[in-house]
Amino acid sequence: MKANIVLLPGDGIGPEVVSAAVRVLEAIGQRFGHTFKFTEHLIGGCAIDQTGNPLPEATLEACRTADAVLLGAVGGPKWDDPRASVRPEQGLLGLRRGLGVFANLRPVRVHPALIEASPLKPDRLQGVDLIVVRELTGGLYFGQPKKREWVNGQYHAVDTLEYSETEIERIVDLAFRLACQRRKKVSSVDKANVLESSRLWREVTNRVAQRYPDILLEHVLVDTAAMRLISAPHSFDVVVTENMFGDILTDEAAVLVGSMGMLPSASLNGKHGGLYEPIHGSAPDIAGQGIANPIGTILSAAMLLRYSLGLEQEARAIERAVDRAIEEGCRTRDLGGSLSTTAMTDAVIERLG
Ligand code: ATP
Ligand code: MG
Repeated sequence: MKANIVLLPGDGIGPEVVSAAVRVLEAIGQRFGHTFKFTEHLIGGCAIDQTGNPLPEATLEACRTADAVLLGAVGGPKWDDPRASVRPEQGLLGLRRGLGVFANLRPVRVHPALIEASPLKPDRLQGVDLIVVRELTGGLYFGQPKKREWVNGQYHAVDTLEYSETEIERIVDLAFRLACQRRKKVSSVDKANVLESSRLWREVTNRVAQRYPDILLEHVLVDTAAMRLISAPHSFDVVVTENMFGDILTDEAAVLVGSMGMLPSASLNGKHGGLYEPIHGSAPDIAGQGIANPIGTILSAAMLLRYSLGLEQEARAIERAVDRAIEEGCRTRDLGGSLSTTAMTDAVIERLG
């Protein structure tokens, strides 16, 4: 197949990890006979420096028409002045909104060989393989009104947790479809004992569940879910939840894996394209040194093949190669080893099978 992939290397270690992932994609393309055309565009701090805009029009336009977008990271100390009117992160938020990517997928797999790198008890981490599906374009982050008012001598602030049936239905349906290809269990996380939006969430989820009789559905209150993620993470398969609960739970889940550098993510709009990025930031402390862990971005590229291009076999080949490299002791610095970004990437490419 032929595919157009837009690359947004961004700032800090972004360019280093994106070029690592591109090398893996090129190797996979060669092996399976696909042609990937890569086009690079600006986003974040480097875009501010060159155009004054963290999300230049040309970037958004290219991303809208691409088959998929692979992003590194944005931001860094150079652009951290809180008084600045334009900030790198605006580029990323604008891109997510511009592409309408309402579903953020974060798989969390604990590799057996990395269990000792996690702060948690080893027996709790055996066999952890879950995916959090976070609603990304609604909820408290966008609900209206959102304001601050001066009332009777003090400020009152308001945020609104708002969801429509359509918004809930599309994200929950996506979670159920994912569960069909996995261990057939959906844990829907809410706070239905307190929140009206959560009661609607539960109703819609139950309705969607009727279309998937093979999938086991459980409703979990968010406080219980937070506890279970640490005490019994293997009890989860697909976790689906609203924007803010998902924000908190995905960071918590990342701790299970041992290093930020390992985790990929996909943001989907249910139609065309998709945005893929590692969960880590621009890591300015190690930028330019060639020591960043490229695995999170390489696994994001695997997700790109799976979800935007439908290349499941190729995605699995990358994931297996990463597993094998880890099993055979390949480690970057963040995992206690000494391999460079390039050497770790070579190690994955050598094991593509
Ligand atoms: P952001 O605000 O952009 O999310 P952050 O403040 O969460 O960024 P990161 O840039 O993700 O921070 O970095 C947090 C720590 O993890 C840093 O010490 C960084 O060096 C380390 N780190 C992040 N990504 C990687 C990676 N791919 N390889 C090695 N270390 C990493
Ligand atoms: Mg962060």
